[in-house]
Amino acid sequence: MADSSGIGGGTAGATGGTGTVHEEYSFACMKCGHGWEQTYDIQHHLPPDGTPFVTYWTEGHRVPSPLTNPTCVNCDGHLLRIMRSGRVALAERAMHT
Ligand SMILES: [Zn+2]
Repeated sequence: MADSSGIGGGTAGATGGTGTVHEEYSFACMKCGHGWEQTYDIQHHLPPDGTPFVTYWTEGHRVPSPLTNPTCVNCDGHLLRIMRSGRVALAERAMHT
């Protein structure tokens, strides 16, 4: 329960393989100005005879990649600015300590 090793991923990207990482994205709609954040569980798959791919999950539901077909939850617009907020938070925390 108190495992705090989920962010930053000590093994992610080291030697490949599968795993789930948590990424938090901030979205900003260029059309209506609506902004929100969403955390994704991103599962990395590495089939032995295929091309590696990832699946995105939010709250236990599989969802399309937010990077390929983003949709504004307010106006259904598709012109969004996406930022990965998790990395930013980690960087800010490192600077303050
Ligand atoms: Zn919008």
